[in-house]
Amino acid sequence: MALMERNSSHPQTDCVVVGASFAGLACASVLARAGIRVTVLERKADPGEKLHTTGIIVKDAIDQIALLDGLPAGLVHRINGVRLYAPNLRYIDLAAPGYYFLATDTPKVMRWLAAQAEQGGARITYRKSFTQAERVQSGFDLGALGTTRFLVGADGPNSRVAKVLGLGLSTKFLFGIEYEYEGVDIAEPNKLHCFIDRRIAPGYIAWVVAGVGVVQVGLARRVRGDQSMVSAAMAAFLEKIAPLFDFRNQRPVSMRAGMIPCGGVVQPAAAKRVLLVGDAAGMVSPVTAGGIHTALKHGMAAGHAIADHLNGKSRDPSGWFVGSYPRFRMKRLLRFLFDHFQSDALFNLLLGTKPMRTAAGIVYFHHKGVLDPTADAAPSRTNGQIAKNRTSR
Ligand SMILES: Cc1cc2nc3c(=O)[nH]c(=O)nc-3n(C[C@H](O)[C@H](O)[C@H](O)COP(=O)(O)OP(=O)(O)OC[C@H]3O[C@@H](n4cnc5c(N)ncnc54)[C@H](O)[C@@H]3O)c2cc1C
Repeated sequence: MALMERNSSHPQTDCVVVGASFAGLACASVLARAGIRVTVLERKADPGEKLHTTGIIVKDAIDQIALLDGLPAGLVHRINGVRLYAPNLRYIDLAAPGYYFLATDTPKVMRWLAAQAEQGGARITYRKSFTQAERVQSGFDLGALGTTRFLVGADGPNSRVAKVLGLGLSTKFLFGIEYEYEGVDIAEPNKLHCFIDRRIAPGYIAWVVAGVGVVQVGLARRVRGDQSMVSAAMAAFLEKIAPLFDFRNQRPVSMRAGMIPCGGVVQPAAAKRVLLVGDAAGMVSPVTAGGIHTALKHGMAAGHAIADHLNGKSRDPSGWFVGSYPRFRMKRLLRFLFDHFQSDALFNLLLGTKPMRTAAGIVYFHHKGVLDPTADAAPSRTNGQIAKNRTSR
């Protein structure tokens, strides 16, 4: 029986994308602009709510992702370099000529990306969770949600699409948590302040960054533990940085938290007529835990590949497209080393050395790394309280 006949009361579409975040919206924008009928299913009521990301976008993404060309300047704050603190709070400044990061008003960026997809012709259905899919001759039957010729799982690290279709799932994660503070100024707001401390953030770092209208303070760690353990780590971090940034008497206006896949791309990441992309595919740098650039880049590329296929120009991309996914070979090795040999004493010792600066430059600036020419070669000591509170003065 033809699919249309069997589901005559349900809508049929060319492609259903599950997840209206970076990967899903990038994919849907491309598909829609290529004339493909695309529906995005999003379980939240608004793409900007309950975000689980700091939202920092690297320069490479701005350079490479055409979709970001029109990103309104008011939604971003430029960060020109990194201040990297050893466990003993001595620091070095790192920067690379012309390199920067963009801190973002992430809820608004997400709404803007959703608007781009809708203007291109994508249909976004909010408050709709993907739960099931049955394979049929021409694609998938999603029950009450209709039928589709192609399915994209852009539904994050715990992908329901992967589970239902028997695709790979990430098994290795960092857990990230972040508080947002309003009405607070920090010193050096154009730097991303990164803190290494094995007790507070084993396997990753903690950070302070001036976002857009808020200051974001967070950490990610290998060990998730229960909520009290994560809260205790945040409390220890806030206490530790108090001489530099004192948030202890501030109430965060919101919290973001979530799992970060850090074991590389899942296997398999695709099957006939279905592809995973973004965090669902484990497409996050195992070292930096950055996934926005890869989610946007491969989300768009997936959109092109699927559009070509549905327009009859190429064979099913599930058979070849995932070959273009990042392998993260070197970064997985670095993750292994960090997981097994992270030592606060070693970081304290090595912070100002050339190898350490070079390694940090590579991690943060992707081989363009050099140290900040304006910074002292030797690590600096922290001094005095530099967090200022606008509202409580
Ligand atoms: C605390 C933290 C800080 C981070 N900071 C950064 C950073 O600064 N820079 C960076 O590059 N990366 C960062 N990352 C990683 C980055 O956020 C992710 O890599 C990125 O969000 C991946 O985008 P995505 O579109 O693949 O998936 P997600 O952003 O996870 O989006 C998945 C979407 O799918 C929806 N969804 C899930 N299941 C269903 C379902 N069954 N039906 C319908 N909808 C569903 C969700 O509601 C969500 O909207 C951070 C991660 C964390 C946890």
